[in-house]
Amino acid sequence: MSLKLGVIGTGAIGQDHIRRCSQTLLNSQVVAVTDINLEQAAKVVADLQIAAEVYPHGHALINSPQVEAVLVTSWGPSHEEFVLAAIAAGKPVFCEKPLAVTADGCRKIVEAELAHGKRLVQVGFMRPYDEGYRALKRVIDSGQIGEPLMLHCAHRNPRVGENYKTDMAITDTLIHELDVLRWLLNDDYVSVQVVFPRKTSKALAHLRDPQIVLLETAKGTRIDVEVFVNCQYGYDIQCEVVGETGIARLPEPSQVQLRSEAKLSNAILMDWKDRFIGAYDVELQAFIDGVRVGQVGGPSAWDGYAAAVAADACIEAQGSGQIVKIGLAPRPHFYD
Ligand code: NAP
Repeated sequence: MSLKLGVIGTGAIGQDHIRRCSQTLLNSQVVAVTDINLEQAAKVVADLQIAAEVYPHGHALINSPQVEAVLVTSWGPSHEEFVLAAIAAGKPVFCEKPLAVTADGCRKIVEAELAHGKRLVQVGFMRPYDEGYRALKRVIDSGQIGEPLMLHCAHRNPRVGENYKTDMAITDTLIHELDVLRWLLNDDYVSVQVVFPRKTSKALAHLRDPQIVLLETAKGTRIDVEVFVNCQYGYDIQCEVVGETGIARLPEPSQVQLRSEAKLSNAILMDWKDRFIGAYDVELQAFIDGVRVGQVGGPSAWDGYAAAVAADACIEAQGSGQIVKIGLAPRPHFYD
């Protein structure tokens, strides 16, 4: 039997996930959708030719007996309310990042899930489902390069729109590193400093770009992440782990190697959607499979909370230029 899903938010990623759940993944069926713009929700149902009912709002969808599990893909500030409502209804919920826009909001979700007594929430951090990061983690966990001492990472976008502000380099861009590097190292951050190199002439006046985020973990590993969102040349994600006895690098996405016009070359992707397209399929299939066997896994509400706490510290560090402590409470055993 297919899992009957309700989707709240039919914007860019909502449409993408509806298509994915209806056409690509196994054992899932989108039976309900809603959006603040109901006409858009109805259009998505018609365009994708799915037999889904359009609900007047998210709460009606969550409480419908037709809906077995919920996907929250609306804009960030509405996530907390819908995830809490899904937990109150005892329904599994996949929530796109951010879990909530404040660390307090994430904490409330953690407490609601703890009170419920069983995991219901998976956060839409997709990088732990990327083939390359999984291969890198296998190498680290095997001990082949010894203990990780330093990580050198980069998150580069060709360019960003004029609505993109300096703090969004943390909340919208670095947030993926904040999640995946904790997972990769099985460690937590304890402090952060943000430094700003010479500004690129390609960034708009209000935006400080690039920036370098320097993180320290509880085990003492040092991480530098270059966030450069107007790099022009491509969407480029780099991660190099320096261990005691060797170095492991995130593999490049597979591209045809070209020998032509006296050059040997590999194309670089331009769009983030292309870079992680496979990971989105795997993360949602994992949610569907987990719900069907009664075991939601993957990035948890605690991981969403940890990312939010770290992001708040990074934003403070952007402003102060100082080293800022990242004070995360011990993880409840529930999330082990
Ligand atoms: P989007 O295109 O703006 O879509 C959001 C949709 O939610 C819009 O149709 C919006 O309607 C609707 N909405 C807002 N408030 C709502 C409410 N209370 N109830 C129902 N619908 C509501 O944005 P997006 O790019 O799809 O992003 C959505 C979320 O996914 C964001 O949190 C974003 O950070 C996340 N995301 C994650 C990834 C990833 O890599 N994991 C990638 C992309 C996006 P209006 O437009 O009328 O306000």
